[in-house]
Amino acid sequence: MNIVMILTDDHAAHAISAYGSVVNETPRIDEIARLGRRFDNCFATNSLCSPSRASILTGTYSHVNGVTTLVTPIDAAQPSFVSALRAAGYRTAMVGKWHMGDGPGHDPQHFDYWDVLIDQGEYIDPVFLSASGRRVVPGYATDIITDLALNWISSLSGDDPYCVLIYHKAPHRPWVPPPGSPHSGSPIPLPATFDDDYATRTSSARRAAMRIAEHLTLEDLKVAPPPELSYADSALWKYQRFMEDYLACVASVDDNVGRVTDFLRARGEFDDTLLMYASDQGFFLGDHGWFDKRFMYEESLRMPLVLSCPLRIAPGVVDDMVTNVDWAQTILEAAGVPAHPRMQGRSFWPLLTDSSYVAADGIYYRYWEHDDVFHKAPAHYGYRTSRYKLIYFYNDGMGIPGCGWGTYPPEWELYDLLLDPAELRNVYDDPAYAVVRDELTVAMWNEQARLGDKPHPSQPRPVTS
Ligand code: CA
Repeated sequence: MNIVMILTDDHAAHAISAYGSVVNETPRIDEIARLGRRFDNCFATNSLCSPSRASILTGTYSHVNGVTTLVTPIDAAQPSFVSALRAAGYRTAMVGKWHMGDGPGHDPQHFDYWDVLIDQGEYIDPVFLSASGRRVVPGYATDIITDLALNWISSLSGDDPYCVLIYHKAPHRPWVPPPGSPHSGSPIPLPATFDDDYATRTSSARRAAMRIAEHLTLEDLKVAPPPELSYADSALWKYQRFMEDYLACVASVDDNVGRVTDFLRARGEFDDTLLMYASDQGFFLGDHGWFDKRFMYEESLRMPLVLSCPLRIAPGVVDDMVTNVDWAQTILEAAGVPAHPRMQGRSFWPLLTDSSYVAADGIYYRYWEHDDVFHKAPAHYGYRTSRYKLIYFYNDGMGIPGCGWGTYPPEWELYDLLLDPAELRNVYDDPAYAVVRDELTVAMWNEQARLGDKPHPSQPRPVTS
C-alpha cells in the first residue's frame, strides 16, 4: 500500500464543501471524502503550523518532540512514522512546506528525496532547498509542489511501496492566489459570530490581535480599504477581500488535489493508496471577528481530514475524536509496520476497517506560543470531551523562544458544546456547571500526568474524590 499525504496550511474545515462550506466548493477534496472517510472531530493538539507538523510526523505532543512554537526547530533525527516506514522498505519523499527549521539537524531526515520551501516560503517563484542546495523554481508554489511530488513518484522503478508527503504553503497568509485568479466580487456570507463581543469570555481571548477589523495588514489585503468607509463597513470590506484571496488559494489547492487523484488513477494505484487530505490546523474565517488560529476554540482546533483507500476502507463519516498525534501510529498500522514505543497517540486504523475501537474520553490541547508580537494569543491548555471544553489560560511564555515577555493572571473558560456550539457563553463560574467543571479539571490533570506534560505552576492541584 502506498501512502500519499497532502497537507495544507491553515485550511479550515468550513472552507471545504464536504464539510458543508457555505463560502466555496472543493470538488476534488470532496471526492476523497465521498470515496473514503470524512473525519468530523479530528483536532490539533497545538493549533500552530510547526508544532502540528512535528506532532503529525513524530506521533508525539509538543512537550515531547520539542516543537512548541514557530521558532523551536525540530531535531529531525527523532523517530517518526517516515523513519519507521523507510526502515521497513518504503521509498520516502517530502516536498513543499517543511517549516520546522532548516540547517544541520533541522533539515528533513529519513527521506530518500526532500525538496522543501524555506521557513514560510513564497507563493510565486519560490526558493526550494534540497540535498543539493537552494534554487529558485519559477511558477506558483501549489502547482510546483505537486509537480515535484508526482515527478518523484514517476521516477521510481520496482515494486517497493512509497510514501510521499505533499505539504503546501497555501492557503497560509498572505493569501496570494495564482496569477490571473478572478475576483468575482460577489458577497461572501459572513459567519454568524462575526460581531462577537466576547461578552462572557476572559480578557485572554479579548487580548488577541487577530481581528479582521483591526489586524489585517496591507500585505494581507494588497489594496488599502477605501478611506471613506466606517469602522463596521471597513471590517466587511476587509473580510470580503481576505476571503476572496483565501478561497482562490484553496481553489488552486483543490485543483492540485485532483491532479494527484487523477495521476494515481492513471497509474492504477488509486484503489490501494492511502490518500489523505488534511490541514495542519483549522482557521478562523471571520468567526468571532478573527482570522488566524492558535486558540482551542472549535474553528481553529478542528482539522479537516479526509482519506481514501477504496480496497481497504469503506466510505463513511467518522464522528469519534482523534488528534494529529494519532496519525503516525494509524499510518504505521495501515502499512503493517510497528510504531516506535515513544509515540503517544493511538491508531485509529481499526475504526477505518470496522474493527474493535474504543473512542477516547477526551483530548488534550496546549498552545505554548504566548503573547507573540504579532498575534498576542495567550498560552493555554485545555481538555475537550464530546460535550464540554475546559480551557486554562496560564498566560505565561515561560521563557520559550517565540513567546512575548508579558504575563497576565490565569483565567478559566468552560463551554457546553451541546447547548452552545459557537462557544459564545463561558459557563466556568455558572453554579449549574460546578460538577462538570470539577470533573473536567481532574480529567485534564490526569491526562497531563499520563502524557508527561507538567501543569503550569499557577494551576491549583484539583481536589480528587
Ligand atoms: Ca498552519
